[in-house]
Amino acid sequence: MKETNADSTPSFASFGLHPDLLSSILAAGYTSPTPIQAQALPVVMQGRDVMGAAQTGTGKTAAFSLPILHRLMPFATHSASPARHPVRALILTPTRELADQVGASVKLYCKNTPLRSAVVFGGVDINAQRDELRRGCEILIATPGRLLDHIEQKNVNLSQVGIFVLDEADRMLDMGFLPDLDRIVRLLPKQRQSLLFSATFSPEIRKLATSFLRDPVSIEVAARNATADTVTQRAYAAEGDAKRRAVEHIVRSQQLTQVIVFTNTKLGANRLTRQLERSGFKAAAIHGDKSQLERMKVLDAFKADALEILVATDVAARGLDVAGVPCVINYDLPFNPEDYVHRIGRTGRAGAKGEAIALVSADEQHLWQDIQKLIGSKLKLERLSLPNASSHTARARAPQDEIFYKPYQPSTAKAPTRVTKEKTVASGQKKRFVGVLLGGGYY
Ligand code: AMP
Repeated sequence: MKETNADSTPSFASFGLHPDLLSSILAAGYTSPTPIQAQALPVVMQGRDVMGAAQTGTGKTAAFSLPILHRLMPFATHSASPARHPVRALILTPTRELADQVGASVKLYCKNTPLRSAVVFGGVDINAQRDELRRGCEILIATPGRLLDHIEQKNVNLSQVGIFVLDEADRMLDMGFLPDLDRIVRLLPKQRQSLLFSATFSPEIRKLATSFLRDPVSIEVAARNATADTVTQRAYAAEGDAKRRAVEHIVRSQQLTQVIVFTNTKLGANRLTRQLERSGFKAAAIHGDKSQLERMKVLDAFKADALEILVATDVAARGLDVAGVPCVINYDLPFNPEDYVHRIGRTGRAGAKGEAIALVSADEQHLWQDIQKLIGSKLKLERLSLPNASSHTARARAPQDEIFYKPYQPSTAKAPTRVTKEKTVASGQKKRFVGVLLGGGYY
């Protein structure tokens, strides 16, 4: 493998990008390429395979999609015929949210060209996607399961794919997509350009890379498994309910208006969300049990500052690009230490400062050790002094906010807003235990 290094920061124009692409990125306010873009653009434009390691928020999407679009420009046509718009570039992502975000970026970059792009993912009606696919698109962004559904329904033909991108490959493997991936790759022409991006590089990822990349250029913009320098990390010892109180205390005392709190389970996310709502916070959960529409609604509300706290599991949060989240709290420590890196990558993006707080219980000490080993730094476990429990129910708020912030009244139990269908599920140990035993659909 050949290594490349960014030695300067040239302008986008100096790469020779097609003017119709340049105009859209300049309009989007991209003035100069990020380091991964500076490295990847020329290599991908030459048609080389790439194995890319990049932290979240580094501009990786544009790093692969801009040169791909540039390479597709000779095929751009205003013809209405679907036959003139075969799928030429396939981008696979592990989650719906990431597919949606990559799709939005690609649409933005090629808005001044006749190139067509489409996004397909599960959890939403397949018919509208089928119609779009049948009209033809040069760039297809998809999650593996839904793509296979479309392939089975013969809504899409991959025989003319000349460029294949596997985004967030590590997560793809974690989510068990390897068999789906194998099936999809077998349907692609052997002669093609392939790009693989992953935040972390385990031996499994390297094996996957050697199986379908040819003489790839290796591009790495951050030390492996590194956390961004712009993120200040802290860890507090906290047990049981003190974790919830710690979240509330941190949000209140720092007057945070946008926080992502990570839990390990869907049930845990729902429970914590309910508790936070009862304490008067504008909170909502995002996890794999929510429909795609619900997830998008919650995400939009969070981006629009209508929510203060987004409680998320790993799968749902993967790839979320919410600009400027000042703080991420690990309510549960992830079982997989690499998820810690992904989680805290939600803050400190694009050079902005961020804070990552881990709440560590006694039985999570071993997970905390693993995380510290992975990120290569020792973080002292601090004690957080919490206000006593009784002063906790209501938040000091302006009178006009009274209704929303009314403390929870168990006797009337009137609608804390945005309570989910899990309202009907008892929140006791027993249910949680069932979740663990069954193991399925956990996130
Ligand atoms: P990504 O790592 O692809 O998720 O990108 C993170 C964010 O950075 C997205 O909101 C992009 O729109 C933005 N972005 C990507 N490249 C640039 C650039 N060269 N200049 C400014 N913003 C960028």
